Amino acid sequence: MKRVSSSSSVLKMSPDNQPAAHIDSGSTVVFETMDCFSNHIQREDQLFSSVGWDLINPATGPVYINGAEPGDTLKIEVLDIVTAEKGVMTTAPGMGVLGEIVSETTRIIPIKEGKAIFNEKIQIHVNPMIGVIGTAPQKGEIPTGTPESHGGNMDCKRVVKGATLYLPVNVPGGLLSVGDLHAVMGDGEIVVCGLEIPGEVTLRVTVLKGQTLPLPMLAEGDSVMTIASAKTLDEAAQMATVNMHSFLCQELKMDIDEAGMLLSLLGDLKICQVVDPLMTARMEFPRWVLESYGYSLQ
Ligand code: CA
Ligand code: CA
Repeated sequence: MKRVSSSSSVLKMSPDNQPAAHIDSGSTVVFETMDCFSNHIQREDQLFSSVGWDLINPATGPVYINGAEPGDTLKIEVLDIVTAEKGVMTTAPGMGVLGEIVSETTRIIPIKEGKAIFNEKIQIHVNPMIGVIGTAPQKGEIPTGTPESHGGNMDCKRVVKGATLYLPVNVPGGLLSVGDLHAVMGDGEIVVCGLEIPGEVTLRVTVLKGQTLPLPMLAEGDSVMTIASAKTLDEAAQMATVNMHSFLCQELKMDIDEAGMLLSLLGDLKICQVVDPLMTARMEFPRWVLESYGYSLQ
């Protein structure tokens, strides 16, 4: 099994990045990841402003998937996420939804027996997730802190162990990079961080020829999801919804109006995050409806 060290990391997703490893379609790869501060915050007297922006949101990779060609889809199965035993959170003025209210603080939060020890009264069950996972754009470069149609910093809390994510291949090899693990995070990511933590992610990556799904798309638990990022949350919500609607019409051959009604009944429109350069929303839809149409994702 290939293992990619966090010493091979990028701050931008770009076709110009040199691959850190090559893997075959259908094989398994381990990404070792730093936290979003490049592991620079180790004590509570180290504040967010002490970390330069050139160290924020490193993503390990990229990995070149042999045989992946522009126009294909990467099927990415999250086989495992292992995190370190302590994580970091920061607040800083001007950052996030409460940026006008909070001051600058750092908290180191230990994890014991699957629970983050937030304070004497509060222990939180961890739910490790991948904040940044994306492929290279066709041209130019996208900072690892930005989510878009290539994936990237989607901060979707349902990208967990057992999830299957579908991302576009825009360049030969796809150039997949992964980083920014959170031991736990709520929808919204209010102060611009989850419980930021280094770790290891094990993925099985398979090339699907062509693109028929509206990407990025995610399957996890009892749900399938379309994920969309845009300048405003309104636009992101609209895009995620339209994408799920077109999935239902194209893949399940549902009638346009019927699919709209069904989304109104069973679709849950949710926020992934509202603090990155673009906002991210997801439309969650129950998998059992797909099954009742005899449809299953590849
Ligand atoms: Ca993030
Ligand atoms: Ca983060």
